[in-house]
Amino acid sequence: MADKRAESVNSDSDSTDDVVVGNVNKFAVVPSGYTGKPKKGHLIFDACFECGNLGRVDYISELEYDLFIRPDTCNPRFRVWFNYTVENVRTDQRIIFNIVNFSKTKSLYREGMTPLVKSTSRPKWTRIPAKNVYYYRCPDHRKNYVMSFAFCFDREEDVYQFSYCYPYSYSKLQNYLDNLEKKNYKFFNRELLSLTVQQRRLDLITIAQPQDNKQESSDEKQRIIFITARVHPGETPSSYVCQGIIDFLVSNHPIAKVLRENLVFKIIPMLNPDGVYLGNYRCSLMGFDLNRHWQEPSPWAHPTLYAAKNLLMGLDRDSKVNLEFYIDIHAHSTLMNGFMYGNIYEDLDRLERHSIFPKLLCGNAEDFSMTNTNFNRDAMKAGTGRRTLGGCLDESAHCYTLEVSFYSYQTSTASQFMPYTEEGYMKLGRNVARTFLDFYKMTGYISTKPSSSIVPKPYNIGSRDRAGDNNSESGVKNLYDDPYYTR
Ligand SMILES: [Zn+2]
Repeated sequence: MADKRAESVNSDSDSTDDVVVGNVNKFAVVPSGYTGKPKKGHLIFDACFECGNLGRVDYISELEYDLFIRPDTCNPRFRVWFNYTVENVRTDQRIIFNIVNFSKTKSLYREGMTPLVKSTSRPKWTRIPAKNVYYYRCPDHRKNYVMSFAFCFDREEDVYQFSYCYPYSYSKLQNYLDNLEKKNYKFFNRELLSLTVQQRRLDLITIAQPQDNKQESSDEKQRIIFITARVHPGETPSSYVCQGIIDFLVSNHPIAKVLRENLVFKIIPMLNPDGVYLGNYRCSLMGFDLNRHWQEPSPWAHPTLYAAKNLLMGLDRDSKVNLEFYIDIHAHSTLMNGFMYGNIYEDLDRLERHSIFPKLLCGNAEDFSMTNTNFNRDAMKAGTGRRTLGGCLDESAHCYTLEVSFYSYQTSTASQFMPYTEEGYMKLGRNVARTFLDFYKMTGYISTKPSSSIVPKPYNIGSRDRAGDNNSESGVKNLYDDPYYTR
């Protein structure tokens, strides 16, 4: 065996677990006894980059390598997210990578999920074919579940990257927001809500048409939709969904214009920037699962949560605004489709009102599942944003968790599972955004009578959109027959 403890493995630990600290850093894996410079085909592993995660590599044979996920910082319980590069490969070199220390046993790998790969010359992420991926209980690893995949390197000069899911880094978000800012939209505002422990930005964006004087003087309260994402750093699909929401709300789409004129959207796209940057799966820099600390966030231990909750509670107290929705976006590691968790209320009218939004979303998004959607007060979920805020905000606020599968969705019409792509996640976000129009039409706040300015040109070619079914009485139906949704 080659150097089994090459990377910061704490061999003095009295824990029986393998302790893996820090990411591998341009780590060349050579056969046992080999001393010279690495030759072509001696794989060089690296995870010292933003969102990188790979803690240790063991050489088993020229063909086979055991890979260890680096646990979340300050919290060894969570080991799911991986993201690393491999270079110095030989053309036609065949290998098997075994990921041996997952902290979860139940996994979408059982349902056919596979890791993603890209390389220098093919920069688009693709899934490794399911026939090359195995998920099984392994006697060599204390009967842990191991995910093994076979891969053949084909270009010597390429650097290959493997990841648990489509990465979405802190820098990617910063670039995205920088570009939006440069457009100088009147209805878009970006603020620094707080800094993280490692001095990263907690961004708050507000999307709303500035009110003219006439409306300002009216007694009408501002209706606020509050959306957060990425409290769990490994749940990268939540960032794509969130970006889909933002993309839609700032677009020229007629529905987006109506929404901006009538509602105020406040969005925190990344609640845990340090955890994201570090390549954690679940926790913050200090090892906290922030979505269990909403009840009493501390300014020093959970500064981003503290700032977010202060803002939310301030809006709740403000007599000039009505905080009507709080939606926290996550990704789910064992279930398919998009779906929601909501709260249970004694008041049946309230419970009924609470179920409207998911039902409307289900009509708009073919990947959204009412079957997976559920309303609960599970003790395990105490301390989540949805549960805590559902208990302390005004009765008119609807608090949900929006989940989307790390892997795939099944529609009511197709028998096959469709793996999600980055675009698929963003489409769910766009569908979430436009569902607010249906909601406010239903409650009578937004008139269903279209004004001439919001009726687009008719567009019917190949529309598979189902939203019109729910809105057949309404002139706004035409709005849905739009190429924006039919990709
Ligand atoms: Zn989550």
